[in-house]
Amino acid sequence: MAGILEARPRVGYFYAGKHTKNLIAEKIREIKVNDIKSVPVVVKEDASVYDAIVTLFVEDVGTLFVVHEDGSLAGVISRKDLLKIAIGNADIRQIPVSVIMTRMPNLITCTPEESAYDAARKIVVHQVDALPVVKAEEINGKIKYKVIGRITKTIITKLFVELGSN
Ligand code: ADP
Repeated sequence: MAGILEARPRVGYFYAGKHTKNLIAEKIREIKVNDIKSVPVVVKEDASVYDAIVTLFVEDVGTLFVVHEDGSLAGVISRKDLLKIAIGNADIRQIPVSVIMTRMPNLITCTPEESAYDAARKIVVHQVDALPVVKAEEINGKIKYKVIGRITKTIITKLFVELGSN
């Protein structure tokens, strides 16, 4: 009964005391990042800005994640990061993405266990378009973040539409 009414033997239905507003909030917080994440699009840190722009078009994404040789998260590059360097006089075939990316530890990330609500909130609070979904791993005694997905404004918008149409 959508949580508004609860059933008890020999008593029948009774009002569970929850307001519809709380139920919506509860429902949204039940959805996990893992349920809605999509595949990450990554480039190596020595990839050129030119290659990153090509990847952006080929993969049809707005944000790229940059990874170290071992596959762990090194940085994030947005559309405007690429535009900024491309409109200057720089030779974008020679400049590696590591020069222009926003790097660790300044990255806003989320985990698969986190709620979709928390991820959406991070996107709003930090004014970014995408978050890497990461899993912490110990590699050679150091904590590294393996990139296992991405959460974007588009994914959150699609979820919003899906929730609204149910
Ligand atoms: P755009 O720059 O195309 O408007 P964003 O708003 O996502 O796209 O990015 C704004 C700035 O924040 C960029 O310099 C980008 O490198 C950085 N950025 C993007 N995503 C993240 C993130 N998850 N964590 C930290 N910085 C980010």
